Amino acid sequence: MKLEKKTETKEKAKKGAEAKGSPAKNIGLGMVAPSESCSDSKCPFHGDTKVRGRTFTGIVTRSKSQKTATVSWERMYYLPKYGRYERRKTKIQVHNPPCINAAEGEIVNIMECRPLSKTKHFIIVQKLGKKEEIRGEDATARPEEKKDHRKEEPKKEGKEKKNE
Ligand SMILES: [Zn+2]
Repeated sequence: MKLEKKTETKEKAKKGAEAKGSPAKNIGLGMVAPSESCSDSKCPFHGDTKVRGRTFTGIVTRSKSQKTATVSWERMYYLPKYGRYERRKTKIQVHNPPCINAAEGEIVNIMECRPLSKTKHFIIVQKLGKKEEIRGEDATARPEEKKDHRKEEPKKEGKEKKNE
């Protein structure tokens, strides 16, 4: 059974490469190569640059520079004194290969690489779609939750005063 499964996956991989018709490299971790090809030496699929190390998912907040984008994402930071988490934002500059060409508002996977310039040591590897398509529901839900908490707090105080 195990042997059969292995042969199936190999066949699928071959078919995928033939259909796209591009000599894109397999960079690992299940990252799908873009349908377009490019001649950028800093592209992990069509160039010489290798990706290794850490992988993140973030939103493109700026893509005006040539072959460069700004990606940011939120992370939770634990404050031991208060026993709670606070939201912190990571914002980094990443390489935006011409074959991927991610636009503002798109959610992307980025992978670490050798330092490409003074500020860039990550490359956009995969586009996952736009922010509205994936997180549209969450974004609208968050502000409503905050409003509810604010409304509840003064009500409780009022009740306590009445009881006294
Ligand atoms: Zn490329």
